[in-house]
Amino acid sequence: MNTPQEVTADALLRASPLPALETRILLMHVLGWRRTELITRGDQALDAARVTAYRALEARRAAGEPIAQLVGAREFFGLDFEVTPDVLIPRPETELLVETALAAMAGIAQPRVLDLGTGSGAIAVAIASVRPDARVWAVDRSPGALAVAARNAATLLDAERPGGALSFVEGSWYSTLDAALHFDVIVSNPPYIANGDPHLDQGDLRFEPRGALTDEADGLTCLRAIVEGAPAHLVAGGVLWMEHGYDQAAAVRALLDARGFAEVASKRDLAGIERISGGRLHGI
Ligand code: GLN
Repeated sequence: MNTPQEVTADALLRASPLPALETRILLMHVLGWRRTELITRGDQALDAARVTAYRALEARRAAGEPIAQLVGAREFFGLDFEVTPDVLIPRPETELLVETALAAMAGIAQPRVLDLGTGSGAIAVAIASVRPDARVWAVDRSPGALAVAARNAATLLDAERPGGALSFVEGSWYSTLDAALHFDVIVSNPPYIANGDPHLDQGDLRFEPRGALTDEADGLTCLRAIVEGAPAHLVAGGVLWMEHGYDQAAAVRALLDARGFAEVASKRDLAGIERISGGRLHGI
């Protein structure tokens, strides 16, 4: 029997102001338990320190902090990425960008891949995990983000992969890349939310790096810069694919058309929204 001052996971679940799923995630994180242990050990008295730690996370979640930041991780493309307040939290719809990049390099041995604005490294590491032969460069202007991306690459990729370690480059888009580098595939999930968009003041976005979310302008500034600089860094026949906002597909296709890209197209995410657009550089 538990004495009255002993606290159990069952009791914390009953008392939590959070949705049950969120309470379970925080409990599993603090206790180091699997989901089934929440059931089999739910009536077990918990260490006071664990209870205190749980209650601190519960309060922070109730104040709006993202679950991914509280537990320090988010699953993306089947991999468990470290997440900190320095990086955008990987979103499931971004897996479409990874799948599209992988399809574009399907027939190419040792493809060269560039991820612009890599953040947590989710896109670059996911691609590298499926294509061990790919040589992957990942750019970010944020040293904090690059540190997270480098840790994710070290944790999630085989140190002996034939494509070698990822190359991390600090800088803005192409500005600090070796001009001699030409890529088979360029991908990016840049900041594309327009200044003043109410979503910036809602939910998880309030706690994510603002510079990863918005260009503080019309939402297209970064997409323009990426399209503009791409031809100088693509091989003939190379492709560029970018994620963008739900209402930006036509504008991004127009940017690609104007820059001379062929096969310009958009793809819909699982919600049916045109979420990524891309094209192929003439030359093959
Ligand atoms: N997809 C994110 C959101 O709307 C934004 C990510 C981005 O700006 N690249 O929540």
